[in-house]
Amino acid sequence: MNVGFIGLGIMGTPMAGHLIDAGHTLFLYDVVKVPAELTDKGATAVASSAEVAKNADVIILMVPDTPHVDEALFGAGGVAEGLSAGKIVVDMSSISPVETKKFAEKINALGCDYLDAPVSGGDVGAKAASLTIMVGGPEKAFETVKPLFEKMGKNITLVGGNGDGQTTKVANQIIVALTIEAVGEALLFASKAGADPAKVRQALMGGFASSRILEVHGERMVKRNFNPGFRIELHQKDLNLALSSARALKVALPNTATAQELFNAVAARGGSKLDHSAMVNALELLANHDIA
Ligand code: NAD
Repeated sequence: MNVGFIGLGIMGTPMAGHLIDAGHTLFLYDVVKVPAELTDKGATAVASSAEVAKNADVIILMVPDTPHVDEALFGAGGVAEGLSAGKIVVDMSSISPVETKKFAEKINALGCDYLDAPVSGGDVGAKAASLTIMVGGPEKAFETVKPLFEKMGKNITLVGGNGDGQTTKVANQIIVALTIEAVGEALLFASKAGADPAKVRQALMGGFASSRILEVHGERMVKRNFNPGFRIELHQKDLNLALSSARALKVALPNTATAQELFNAVAARGGSKLDHSAMVNALELLANHDIA
C-alpha cells in the first residue's frame, strides 16, 4: 500500500518503521525533521502534508494535539490540498472527540473517509508493535486500514462512529492518570514506612494490585528515571479534554481533577517535559519525603 505518515516523533517514528518493514511504500512529513533511520530504510521524505496526501492512499497522522491535526489537515500545504476522492485519512494522535467529528465531516466532504484511531501503550508499545488501537469511523474504511493497524498494534477495536475512538482514549487516559497516582501514593507510603519500594513493587506485581503501570511507571519512580516516555504536558492535554468534556456532559470527575492538579504542580516546578510517572514528585513534595 502507498501510505503517508505525518508526525514522526516519539510514537510516529517506530510506528512508521513497522510499516516500512512490512513492505509498504511510505511517504513522510514532519514540520521539524524526518528521521534518517526511516529514509535509510527506503521511505521518501516529502515537502508538505499535501505532498503526502497526493502520493498515498492512506494518510496517517501522529502529531501532538488538536491544533496540530487541524494545521496538518486544513492549513496551508495541508492534507486537504492533496486529497482526491477515495482516500482514507487516519488520525492516530490523541485529540478532542468534538473537533474530530468536525474534521471527519470536512474530510468526508472531499469524498474521503476518516478514522480516528488513537493508541495506548506508550513508546514501549510503539517500538514493540503492541499498541492498543481504538477506532471510530466507517467499518469499510476500518477493514481497509486494519492490515496497517495490525503491523503497529495488537488489541484493535472499532468502537463506533467518528469521535468514539477519541472518547475511548480520553477514558483510557483517566484510568492511566489515576493509576499512576495510586502507584505513586503506595510506593511513597511504603518507602516512608521503611520498606524498600523496589521490593514492594516486585512483591505486588504478582497480586491483585499488579498492572502495567505498577510495572513500568512504578519502576521509573523507584529508579528515578523520568525521561519520556509520555510527557506530562501531553497528559495534561488529555485530562483537559476529559475535564472540559465532563463539564459539558455534566459529569463529575473528582479524581481526574486531582490528578490534573498534581501534574500542574510538577509542571510549575519545570517538569512539563518529564515522563508522566514524575507525578510522584508532587506527592513527594506534599509528604516531604522522596521514594528513593
Ligand atoms: P512528539 O511530540 O514526540 O511527536 C509529534 C511530532 O509531530 C513531532 O515530531 C512534531 O514535529 C510533529 N508535528 C507537529 N505538528 C505538525 C504538523 N502540523 N505537521 C507535521 N508534523 C507535525 O509526540 P508523541 O509522543 O509522538 O505523541 C504523538 C501523539 O500520540 C500525541 O497526541 C500523544 O498524546 C499520543 N500518544 C503518545 C504516547 C507516548 O507515550 N508518547 C502514547 C500514546 C499516545
